[in-house]
Amino acid sequence: MIQITIPLNMLGMVYREIRQSLIDMAEMFALLDQPPEVSDRPGAPPLRVRDGHVRFESVEFGYDPVRPILKGISFEVPPGHTVALVGASGAGKSTIGRLLFRFYDVSAGSVSIDGQDLRDVTQASLHDAIGIVPQDTVLFNDTLYYNIAYGREDATRADVEDAARAARLHDFIASLPDGYDTQVGERGLKLSGGEKQRVGIARTLLKNPPIVLLDEATSALDTQTERDIQDSLRAMSAGRTVITIAHRLSTVVDADTILVMEDGRVIERGSHDALLARDGQYARLWTRQAREAA
Ligand code: ADP
Ligand code: MG
Repeated sequence: MIQITIPLNMLGMVYREIRQSLIDMAEMFALLDQPPEVSDRPGAPPLRVRDGHVRFESVEFGYDPVRPILKGISFEVPPGHTVALVGASGAGKSTIGRLLFRFYDVSAGSVSIDGQDLRDVTQASLHDAIGIVPQDTVLFNDTLYYNIAYGREDATRADVEDAARAARLHDFIASLPDGYDTQVGERGLKLSGGEKQRVGIARTLLKNPPIVLLDEATSALDTQTERDIQDSLRAMSAGRTVITIAHRLSTVVDADTILVMEDGRVIERGSHDALLARDGQYARLWTRQAREAA
């Protein structure tokens, strides 16, 4: 009994941690069959992605029924557009990401992709359609090649190198004595935060999903790393629908629409320029962050 119980408890811990940090579901499926919170409707068809139009309509949600977290969230991300979510910690930004991935079902309203309610399609097809670049990309104790190729099982060597190039990672890898065969992770080469995130971006490029969810690292990156990542992110965003939980000023500026969240509501929305001109909460956030970055 003991041998069985202990690992199961550990799995539970790992599961919760992973869910919290919005990591690629496939990694979680390696540990557990599926999340217990939601299940496929009997006979549910797969999601058919035409162009990746994401829509949140009057969404209400709480982890606990007595404590509402999202209070009437409506927005859409047209195909190929980037929407950035900004706002204080605890405002509900990551929760929106978790609902898009259907870790939980909404309590009212709906989330849909190309007109299909997420509750009406299989979770496996939903997870295939969405690439997640998490705050902190988990590396396997394996080679760099394996860690990138993990994004797609049938990837060829050329596919992996192309993805690494587009993620601005190839030159770095090529400069290592063992190149793509370099061991990373706990017993191998320690990668910086920026390098790890580029591995995550390369993985996502290889998976080639129509929709990308990006949960940005909160930690300040140095200017050069920030610029490098920005190039990788641009390569990843091209032609895809992107939702960014944003901390970096640069991503926010590039977004088609910025949603400013406060206490489970969207209090302002618009482009960077429009929101600055409005001189409201966003303008105040911007001024404060710009001062901190200087
Ligand atoms: P943000 O990403 O904007 O910082 P989150 O979406 O992570 O905010 O959290 C919104 C609120 O939901 C917070 O009050 C947080 O404490 C709560 N919350 C987040 N995850 C859970 C959870 N798994 N169970 C209960 N409450 C949670
Ligand atoms: Mg968050």
